[in-house]
Formats: sequence, structure tokens, C-alpha cells
Amino acid sequence: MVVIGGGISGLSCASMLHRSGINVRVLDQGYRIGGRCTTRRTHEGEVVADLGAPCFGAVDPVFIEEIERWIGSGSCARWDGAGGAFVGVPTMDAIVDRMAQDVDVRSGCRVERVFRHDGAWVVEVERRDGARMTERCERIVLATHPREAARLIGEHSDTISSMLGSVETRCVWVLMMRINDPLEGLPAMVDAGEVGDDSEEIIARIIRDDHKPGRVCETDSSMLVIHAREDWSAANRELDRVEAQRVLTQHTRSLVSSMLGHDLDDQRIGDVQVHRWGSAHPVEGLPQQCETDDDASIVVCGDAFGWKGLSLGVQSAWLSGRAAAMRLIETTK
Ligand SMILES: Cc1cc2nc3c(=O)[nH]c(=O)nc-3n(C[C@H](O)[C@H](O)[C@H](O)COP(=O)(O)OP(=O)(O)OC[C@H]3O[C@@H](n4cnc5c(N)ncnc54)[C@H](O)[C@@H]3O)c2cc1C
Repeated sequence: MVVIGGGISGLSCASMLHRSGINVRVLDQGYRIGGRCTTRRTHEGEVVADLGAPCFGAVDPVFIEEIERWIGSGSCARWDGAGGAFVGVPTMDAIVDRMAQDVDVRSGCRVERVFRHDGAWVVEVERRDGARMTERCERIVLATHPREAARLIGEHSDTISSMLGSVETRCVWVLMMRINDPLEGLPAMVDAGEVGDDSEEIIARIIRDDHKPGRVCETDSSMLVIHAREDWSAANRELDRVEAQRVLTQHTRSLVSSMLGHDLDDQRIGDVQVHRWGSAHPVEGLPQQCETDDDASIVVCGDAFGWKGLSLGVQSAWLSGRAAAMRLIETTK
């Protein structure tokens, strides 16, 4: 079995299939697995900050049980500073690394095309080094974002691909900023709307990556991750990266200065990086936990599934991957 996509949903599915004795391989196009639950590192491997989900909540009892196992293994902790949300330890991607343990996972493998041939699926892959390879398998799990899953399914199922193609997603600009100051008094998570500064029209939240449990941090500096508002990100989707970085840096400085009650000196701003998540969150998802074609030879999962009126992010992705695995296990016996 091949799982396309090594984010939370793909790995939740693959780890459950693996535990059930099903031979599974995960292919992911990224440098590392994790998708939107990833941690930015330098070329030398040093941690910069969590670039996607900064933390996550849980309300589903089955997911809470799983989190307890993650906590027991040391790969997750409750972050009291962020209202008791959960984080990966020492970084968010520790969770995906744990799920990937013992599973055959290949990063740097972009799936270009899938098609049926002689009663099997053929998966065409382009590796990061430019090499091409094909895999044959009986069944496929698509755990990419919905539009990519729609592209890959294509004509195999017009119904599923048009349903997936209708899921709109929102973009989010993210800034990572090192400040050579401990920023004493700046809380772990700042909701910009509560500060009363004009920057709240651009910035949604500031997260102190250096305050997360298990982080190794220097005492004289701080690491902030800033999420721009979704409406501002959508309106400025095509903004030049240099300009996006300039605007977000300026507004973060203003917001942090308002909170500290004194100007944050420009010279204290260290390394700054910007990233645009083209599809950060679904605008409105699908109510079912996953989707399959008639003979369950292809199963689609991800955080757009299990929609309950809002995006439950990591929890939705994990539950959807699990539901996909259960569907495959049921129909394999
Ligand atoms: C800025 C930001 C903030 C967030 N904040 C929160 C939060 O506070 N709480 C919360 O719960 N959630 C949050 N989320 C959402 C959470 O990160 C996602 O819901 C979850 O990680 C989605 O997992 P997934 O497996 O469904 O998709 P993804 O993580 O997107 O995984 C899809 C994977 O498929 C791979 N892929 C795509 N196309 C191909 C292809 N053709 N071939 C091979 N591989 C492919 C990608 O590389 C990726 O790894 C946030 C996300 C972002 C971006």
C-alpha cells in the first residue's frame, strides 16, 4: 500500500496500517516529513522555530488517549503558557517523527501521477535528485491537501475529484524573528486583537517559540513566530517576500513595543525569515471522516475531513488518517 503525503493524516494512517501488519510505504515531496506540522531548521540542522501549527488542542477522547501515549514517550507536552494546548517536544515535528517510527517513509519524493494499469495502481514519482521511479500497489491513500488529491485522482473518479476540488483553503504568511532581548513580560501567546494596537489589522498572533516546554533557548534572546491575519494574507497573497517580511517585521515591532511599554530597538532584531503557507487551513471542509472510491482502492484523508463547523487542525488530520486506515483494514480482511 502507498500513502501519498507524510503529514499528520498520512502518518496517522500509515502507522495504524503498519501496526495491523499491512505493508505500507509513505511518499512525501518535502525535505522532511510533517507537512504543516513542521519545524524550520538551518542547512546545518539547527532548529529555527515551528513553522506550521505552533500547538494544538484536543477534544476527541480517542485523540486524547493517543496524546497521552505521546506524552508518555516524551514527544509531546502540555504548554501551560498557551492555555494548556499541546506541543511536540523538543519541537513540533517530534510528533510526526514518532508516528513515522518503524514505517517505511521516503521524503523528497513528489508523486506526479497515479493511474490504473493491469488491475493495479501505478504511482509515478520524481525524486528530489531528479530521478524518476514508479511503484505498483493495490491501494493508495491520498493524504495531501484536497486540491492536490483532486489533481491526482483526476478522471479515476470525477465525483471525488470535483468534491475535493470544491474545498477552498486559506493562505497565511508567517514570520520567524529572533530578538536579542529576553522580552521579559511578553506572554507565551499573544492574541493581537487584545492589544489595542493598529497592527491587529495585519497580525493575528505572536507565539513565543522559546517559551515552549522542552526548548533549549538562550537566556538573552527570544524567538518569536508571527502569524498574519488570514484576511490580510489573502489580500496580500502575491506580495513579494521581501516586502511581506518588511511589513510584518515593522508591525511586530510596533505590537511588541506596545506590550512592553517601550520601543523595541531596531538593533535588537536578529535573524528574520518569512514563509507563505499557500493552503494553511480549509475554509469549509467535508463532514465525512475520509472518502473512498467504490472498491476502496483509493482512500482520501486530511484535515479537510470530519468538518464540524470549524477547523480542528491537527486533531481532524489525525482522526481522518485513522478513519482511512480503519476503512482499509476492514476491506482487506
Ligand atoms: C500557520 C499555521 C498555523 C496552524 N495552527 C494550528 C493550530 O494552532 N492548531 C491546530 O490544530 N492546527 C493548526 N494548523 C493546521 C495543522 O497544521 C494541519 O491541520 C495539519 O498539520 C494538517 O495535516 P495533514 O496531514 O492533513 O496535511 P499536511 O500537513 O498538509 O500534509 C500533506 C503532505 O502531503 C505532501 N504532499 C503534497 N502533495 C504531494 C505530492 N504530489 N507528492 C508527495 N507528497 C505530497 C506534503 O509535502 C505534506 O507533507 C496550522 C497550520 C498552519 C499552516
